[in-house]
Amino acid sequence: MRLSARTLATKLRPKETRMKLEDCCYDGSKTFKLSDYPTSAKADKKRKAEYTELTAANTALMAELQEKLYADGREGVVIMLQAMDAAGKDSTIKHVMSGVNPQGCSVYSFKTPSKEELAHDYLWRAIKNLPQRGSIAIFNRSYYEDVLVVRVKNLRATYDMPKRCLEGPEDAFFDMRYRQIRNFEEYLYENGYRLLKVFLNIGLEEQKKRFLARIDEPAKNWKFSAGDLDERALWPQYMDAFEQCIAKTSTEHAPWYVIPADQKWFARWLVSEAVVKVLQDCDPQFPTLSEEELAAMAACRERLVNWPSE
Ligand code: AMP
Ligand code: MG
Repeated sequence: MRLSARTLATKLRPKETRMKLEDCCYDGSKTFKLSDYPTSAKADKKRKAEYTELTAANTALMAELQEKLYADGREGVVIMLQAMDAAGKDSTIKHVMSGVNPQGCSVYSFKTPSKEELAHDYLWRAIKNLPQRGSIAIFNRSYYEDVLVVRVKNLRATYDMPKRCLEGPEDAFFDMRYRQIRNFEEYLYENGYRLLKVFLNIGLEEQKKRFLARIDEPAKNWKFSAGDLDERALWPQYMDAFEQCIAKTSTEHAPWYVIPADQKWFARWLVSEAVVKVLQDCDPQFPTLSEEELAAMAACRERLVNWPSE
């Protein structure tokens, strides 16, 4: 007998694990310290195959839930991935989302803003790329860059905006942006969207290892750019910016998940758990037909059955 994806995912629950999805969730209800969240779950390497299987089961479950979400058409889902370079944003998208039907899912990468983008408010490109209800959008980076890289590199000094929007100390400027983001996310929630905000939390040592692999292995050379080392040099400033941003933009309906990213296979499982959770929270249902629609369908059936043969 073939098991349904849901039964399989339930049957395959890990017997015990060092870390569960709930341990990674911060919803703003207490104080937040990034150092309380490890970069590695230190899961036993011998269990890699087991977790890879669990991730595959979640991926199958996602496919079922996404079909319902699409048919239902009431909620839109935005999955946002933020991280330092080489933390695994791209490979997480590739592996975890592999079961999702491309019809009903989009991926958008937030690059250095174009001239046109800089001539608009910073939420403009996110709004332009929101999914329709019933669909999923994956944001590879997001408007959070506007409180991360913009903070670390003091890019507000380069903005062409009225003086009233730019003056004041750094903290006040970014507190204003955190508030704008909280309001925007509440607005989205109240308009039929659910957000999944993931920070892939990689350690400095693991990043070094992955950069070296990108330099040493020809097939990975394309992933490396010299500028990545300049960003690495700003690690403490980035961690500070992440800490403040997570502390101030986590809410009940838009919490942050701080996922330990040093062990890719374990991080993928945690992200797959988070994606399944957000889709389950949507509680998508196949639309049901009214009495009249059922009667019309039965009439069509009758007509088809009695269709003259060739
Ligand atoms: P990658 O994801 O490696 O292709 O790089 C994209 C780059 O664009 C990263 O260095 C980001 O920090 C940068 N970026 C994304 N959004 C913004 C933004 N709003 N302002 C400045 N830089 C950004
Ligand atoms: Mg990069």
